[in-house]
Amino acid sequence: MSFADETSYLSQDISEVDPDIARLLRAEAERQAETLEMIASENFTSHAVLQAVGSVLTNKYAEGLPHRRYYGGCEVVDQVEDLAIERAKQVFGCEHVNVQPHSGATANEAAYQAVLAPGDRVLAMALAHGGHLSHGLKVNFSGRLYEFHHYGVRREDCRIDMEQVARLARELRPKLIVAGASAYPRIIDFRAFREIADEVGALLMVDMAHIAGLVAGGVHPTPVGIADIVTSTLHKSLGGPRAGMIMCRADLASAIDRAVFPGLQGGPLMHVIAGKAVAFGHALTDEFHERQRQVVRNTAVLAEGLLDGGVALVTGGTDNHLVLVDLSTTELTGADAEVRLDRAGITVNKNGIPFDERPPTVTSGLRIGTPALTTRGLKEPEMAEIARIIGAALQPEVPENDMTALRERSRAVSERFPLYPRLLSGSAIA
Ligand SMILES: *Cc1c(COP(=O)(O)O)cnc(C)c1O
Repeated sequence: MSFADETSYLSQDISEVDPDIARLLRAEAERQAETLEMIASENFTSHAVLQAVGSVLTNKYAEGLPHRRYYGGCEVVDQVEDLAIERAKQVFGCEHVNVQPHSGATANEAAYQAVLAPGDRVLAMALAHGGHLSHGLKVNFSGRLYEFHHYGVRREDCRIDMEQVARLARELRPKLIVAGASAYPRIIDFRAFREIADEVGALLMVDMAHIAGLVAGGVHPTPVGIADIVTSTLHKSLGGPRAGMIMCRADLASAIDRAVFPGLQGGPLMHVIAGKAVAFGHALTDEFHERQRQVVRNTAVLAEGLLDGGVALVTGGTDNHLVLVDLSTTELTGADAEVRLDRAGITVNKNGIPFDERPPTVTSGLRIGTPALTTRGLKEPEMAEIARIIGAALQPEVPENDMTALRERSRAVSERFPLYPRLLSGSAIA
């Protein structure tokens, strides 16, 4: 290809320039459309968000904050970031927000950097009980840089053991307590964490990555106004582009902003920030609020259907957007079950459950979430059908013919809810 003809290089369609990647983009769009996506951390973002993220804003360097940049030509992107900030404040009612973190893990890294020195003590939820690797896993930056200690759930009911949190907090006197999880099917009591943090003089950070959509939709209590710092992703239940954000009290604003830049990141991804602004715009609509209520209803119906089909659930049910299937008393491992459901046309992930006796590569659990399918339009009757399909696929023995029939049933459900028809009807993707 000659760079002499710049206009053609710049304007060619991906299907001409790179048929290999174009084919794979289409293949992935088809895979997403033809299967039932139930990974609890995934969602389908809107066509409008895809357009923002695929825009010319990717070309722009804008180190710094709006109206205080280290680069020229920022007058348009300043307005984009201003809108993202304004809308985030409207959605969550926070005093301050930084919309620049590239991801959830990066948001946490910046938040720690803003309030901790290396070696400082932190108390967070154990990964094996539903926490996240950025909450102090030994091989993660967090566990390497800070002295993390972990609380977990009670053996008898698998709910967060607030007595243990209080006891560890009194013993350890951590500088920071972190609440928030990646695999916890119940409402988290942020006020109870606040009381403990106040008693021991710790700061409280809530990582609401998984439940941000539910919080925005008013179906999970908000940590904003309770925690000193709230971090989140945008791409999980909130349904925005792949990215992170940090909210905080006004007096922590400059420490948070400085930790993000120049502390941790270089130039912000302005195309993604435009996508965040669009996503926050969606989150302000009645339609979004109704969809979050539907997420909770859908998960409740899924849980009921699974229990009816003899599938055990950690905590015996759910309050939010996910269930954790407990396979510990069955022959089937989490890894086997993930493959079974994949063959039945349902995408989930194996997941450790509290007190799991199988290793993390095998596990005794499955994490199943409803945000993506709810965004796609599925409601209670479809969730009941999916629960029946899952129950059948997790029987001890499933003959090949039965598996094929289950896959057909999943396909029949997904076909009734077209995904991105505008992308799949054209010759090119996005
Ligand atoms: C997903 C998740 C993150 C990390 O988000 P990434 O964007 O994948 O880095 C952080 N914390 C929690 C609780 C999560 O569930």
